[in-house]
Amino acid sequence: MNNSRSLFRRARRIFPGGVNSPVRYFRPYPAYIVSGEAQRVRDADGNIYTDYVLGYGPLILGHTPAPVLRSIYMSARNGIMFGAPTVQEIELAELILGTCRSADMIRFVPSGSEATMHALRLALHHTRRKKILKVKGGYHGSHPLVISNENLSEIEFNDIESLGTELSTREYAAFIVEPVMGNSGLISPREGYLKAVREETERTGTVFIADEVITGFRTCFGLYTERNGIFPDLVTVGKIIGGGLPLAAFAGDRNLMRNVRPAGDMMQAGTYSAHPVSVASGLSTLKRLKNTNYERLSELTRMAAGFLSDSGCSVAFETGMLSAFMCSTLPSNGSEVARADRQAYFSVFRRMLKKGVYLPPSQDELVFFSFAHHASDVRRDFSLMAGEIRSVLGL
Ligand code: PMP
Repeated sequence: MNNSRSLFRRARRIFPGGVNSPVRYFRPYPAYIVSGEAQRVRDADGNIYTDYVLGYGPLILGHTPAPVLRSIYMSARNGIMFGAPTVQEIELAELILGTCRSADMIRFVPSGSEATMHALRLALHHTRRKKILKVKGGYHGSHPLVISNENLSEIEFNDIESLGTELSTREYAAFIVEPVMGNSGLISPREGYLKAVREETERTGTVFIADEVITGFRTCFGLYTERNGIFPDLVTVGKIIGGGLPLAAFAGDRNLMRNVRPAGDMMQAGTYSAHPVSVASGLSTLKRLKNTNYERLSELTRMAAGFLSDSGCSVAFETGMLSAFMCSTLPSNGSEVARADRQAYFSVFRRMLKKGVYLPPSQDELVFFSFAHHASDVRRDFSLMAGEIRSVLGL
């Protein structure tokens, strides 16, 4: 039988924990998604859900945007890949860099993990320093530079004082930060935080890496930092720039980027870098987004937040993304997220799944909205969710 339960029984024997990325697992077994269309997905058990996971962020136009599908097909039909430069990679790079003031060169890589890894390597290479500073609960992929090690230190998000103290040692090559935290739930920067990051990194000769793998092209057409008047040294983007296919990039000013081979001597290479089909998908997505008013996405997000606002949880949101923390006050950093009741969130998730709404299974992940969602979806699903939250929290 090919239902989710029996599929998971098979998968458990061959994949660690039964899955190929930890967040895909939830108790007692994940729903095996067999297809998606616009804002909906269908699972192997015949259930249809409104999808607010959206591949964990990339699918801002929904599951099956016709122009993107056409571009993917036409690109693959033209030859799957070449291992040589293409015209479209130039077009996509120019489109992305055209939205950025802080970056004038870019390199494409297949994943956000690789983008942050190489941005950090570039900072280490350029500054000749050994240490990296990141934020507690910040996520930048699963490579050794950002997983606990002797050269990695962590401070709280929104903590300007600790940032100043740490950076004053002038031992750090880079401070890497998501401008809006998106992997401990959504935590927005306090007024003045990103400005202080810019000033402190500048003062101490530390490379400021804005990890915009989630926020880039989601909150606006371009970078969240730049939209807010902040100009980092290096930026990493991913997810949306590939329109659902594997594509990410690190970008920055010429002086830094010229260190990368073959312009400079920092080795960086990849068989699948700027894969033509991913580039075609990303180009088609970004061309579409360029002519799209993000205000519609803002409105949907505000509407969802409005429904949840008096349900007993605390709601954080930015355009196109949202978190409902099961606690009475909003966390302002990764450690404060511990006060939210994760079990309560999971109960809400399970109840919503039964009602045909696919939310992220973990409170750490974000609820995402797409241009394929309608106000009627959001009205129905988030008034339902508010009811389930009240019931789970016993209000
Ligand atoms: N940076 C951030 C901010 C992310 O959210 C993620 C993934 N969720 C990554 C980097 C890693 O990207 P990928 O999963 O494409 O390797």
